[in-house]
Amino acid sequence: MWNKKWVVGNWKMNGRLHENDTLLSEILALPPQPNVCIGIAPPAVYLQQVRNATQNAPHNTILPCAQDLSRFPGTGAYTGEISAAMLKDAGAQAVLVGHSERSLYFNETNDERRQKIENALAAGLIPLLCVGENLQERENGDEKTTVARQLSVLKGLQTDTFAIAYEPVWAIGTGKVANKEQIAQMHHFIYNEVLSFGNSGANIRILYGGSVNETNAAEIFSAAHVDGALVGGASLSGKQFSAIIRAAEQA
Ligand code: PEP
Repeated sequence: MWNKKWVVGNWKMNGRLHENDTLLSEILALPPQPNVCIGIAPPAVYLQQVRNATQNAPHNTILPCAQDLSRFPGTGAYTGEISAAMLKDAGAQAVLVGHSERSLYFNETNDERRQKIENALAAGLIPLLCVGENLQERENGDEKTTVARQLSVLKGLQTDTFAIAYEPVWAIGTGKVANKEQIAQMHHFIYNEVLSFGNSGANIRILYGGSVNETNAAEIFSAAHVDGALVGGASLSGKQFSAIIRAAEQA
């Protein structure tokens, strides 16, 4: 899976058992896409549904992913929290960490992200760290400083097994997409930054996220250093998500 393009659908707070079944059956009906690793990140209550539907996927590798995890390790009196080990138990193989909506609505900090990454790794989950600047930071030319600060949570980790999603906040759910040059430059920067922390780069995927859809996917996948996409809105449509997967296969 580390030499494939990843296409990960982040369902956010969407879905119902019946709707999920329909969406999953459309994804399962895709013919073999040997160059793509498909990820599906449903709300945590639906992880088992995704795991059960996809574990014997006839043609394709499908990774159930969680959207978030608790910063607390182990078990305990943390009402409402879901630990890394529980997510693993429910079928998750990877977990998003630091999505911009977690900072926006839950004031998540870098320290919390680091704790979450450590918990994910300890439970055998692949952390998928989301980074990206907001519009003001981009307009001030501060995008690399911002992303470097967000990436610093990976320093000193004893692992080479993680993924990063570059998601400019101004491109999430807005219909605005970073251009190919902006994407390639930032992905190159992220790759070098991560290598400078002492990670060998052997098992690292760098995905782009932000208004990816069936129309722009091929162009985005053709940008240098793009190892896949994190897809929000378009992952809720079987037709659109499948088209993005096919674009990744052909990239
Ligand atoms: C996201 O939230 O991770 C995302 C990329 O959303 P969208 O594709 O809807 O912009």
